[in-house]
Amino acid sequence: MTYSLEEAKFQVRSMGQNLKKEGLMVGSWGNVSVRVDENTFVISPSGTSFNSLSNEDIVRVNIKDGSHDAGKVPSSEYLIHLITYKSRPDVSCVIHTHQPVATALSTLGVSFNDIKRYIPEGMTRDVTILGNTIPVTSYQFPGTKDMMKAIGKAWKKNPEACALLIKNHGAIICGEEARETFYIVKMLEKMSKWIYSSIVEIDEEDLKFEDAFETKYRDKLKWAKDNKEMLDKYSFVSRSPFLVRYSNLGMDLEAYIDDMAQLCGGVVVNLTGKINQSFLAKQLKDNSACLLKGKGAVCVAESEIEARNLCMVLEKNAMAAYLAKKYGNIPPIPEKYAKEDRKFYLKSYSQRVKDSKK
Ligand SMILES: [Zn+2]
Repeated sequence: MTYSLEEAKFQVRSMGQNLKKEGLMVGSWGNVSVRVDENTFVISPSGTSFNSLSNEDIVRVNIKDGSHDAGKVPSSEYLIHLITYKSRPDVSCVIHTHQPVATALSTLGVSFNDIKRYIPEGMTRDVTILGNTIPVTSYQFPGTKDMMKAIGKAWKKNPEACALLIKNHGAIICGEEARETFYIVKMLEKMSKWIYSSIVEIDEEDLKFEDAFETKYRDKLKWAKDNKEMLDKYSFVSRSPFLVRYSNLGMDLEAYIDDMAQLCGGVVVNLTGKINQSFLAKQLKDNSACLLKGKGAVCVAESEIEARNLCMVLEKNAMAAYLAKKYGNIPPIPEKYAKEDRKFYLKSYSQRVKDSKK
């Protein structure tokens, strides 16, 4: 299917809005592109909410050399789209997501073959669009040439696949037209839930990914009063199912997905005994979050929306860590990469804050 430039831009906006609506995108972690011709695709811009986009904001990218419209900044993950169009001349739409359950599955680093065997009886029709295999890449640091090479290699090895997992990161979904591609994103999440629940022996219903935030916590906790700078920040306790389940294990939560490494670093400590206020304050300052055994996690951020996003990312990471432990000894993201991830994020975050004040 080919789209005119304006149609392609419209499809990018509408698919992006739908990702949000369906709960398949947290914050701005997700990007969408549509091919216009053999050598061109259009993609969502860097770090903007899909709800406020107009056609003028969508960025044109040249598939041959990666150059793009002057004066516009494409999504920071546009290279993932570029390598996908290069490897898959048969597709016209690409969606890159950090969708919760598929991302959790990616941490296992295994390709899922013959996926039909995971489908519960009587439910075959709608998911057959996924084909037979969901391949996975090797782990590579996000945004690097090595990551793009791993993605290109995985597509070449699986030219029929329409969904690919990027280890410890997310998924790429491609298709011939916009509506179908968006449908595949949804089916990937559905299939991922079936695979997940068969490994962890959990009820599929428990894989709901929804807000479970308690009241604003800052007025209740002594650390907020003792650490005045915290009063300017937003804090929540998340009692979402996997954070509570994981906190109950009494173990620290290691980073299994890049999102968490960026927001919290390699480890979020689990406070198992009586809460030591100054220790908690230090953890929140350094890592923005802390688990409280049996209760879930406290998350702090600069704004309410960021605090909520942080809780969602931690829930997704807890889901991944829980799966990794049940499956076998699947290691988290290597510490040096998690630290790099965090350093890189803090640098780009402070740059964004500076830019927004200009
Ligand atoms: Zn990504």
